[in-house]
Amino acid sequence: AENRRLIASLIRDIPDFPQQGVGFKDITPLLGSAEGFRATVDELVAAAPPAIDVVVGMEARGFIVGAPVAVALGAGFVPVRKPGKLPAATYEVSYDLEYGSETLTIHTDAIKPGSRVLVVDDVLATGGTLAATAELIRRLGAELVHVAVVMELAFLEPHRRLAEAGLGETAITA
Ligand code: IMP
Repeated sequence: AENRRLIASLIRDIPDFPQQGVGFKDITPLLGSAEGFRATVDELVAAAPPAIDVVVGMEARGFIVGAPVAVALGAGFVPVRKPGKLPAATYEVSYDLEYGSETLTIHTDAIKPGSRVLVVDDVLATGGTLAATAELIRRLGAELVHVAVVMELAFLEPHRRLAEAGLGETAITA
């Protein structure tokens, strides 16, 4: 509870970013605080089920919070990236945003089939990024066993979108 309070106190609201009318949760003060970053990693690690083989983090803040969680769990780290960044063969999944669409990619050989995967990201908003990431993990034949995020924007109803994507049973800690 003390960790949760510290974390909440170090996330700031930036109005009208990246566009007018949108409120952005800025975690840079949290990352910049030694105690805050430590508390964040500890909370994400505590959320992880046993025997995680691989942590998957999404570009770009999912790298920052996911990598230390992977080391702490004794797991590997696999990046999910925007198109054109990964050098070897990739799978790609596209999804709709409010305006336009986004594509995420993963190396086709990044995770061994059957591996137990933890997804880590900073903010769960509409759930589109997570749904696409889950699809990439599924294509690799790995098992998404848990999702741990620093914060969830419940008013965007991510669980509705995730349920529509067939992820209604996926355990999520926010
Ligand atoms: P979603 O796909 O709408 O759930 O958006 C989640 C993705 O966008 C995550 O990878 C976040 O890093 C990023 N994101 C969305 N909203 C915010 C925010 O308010 N602060 C920081 N990141 C955000």
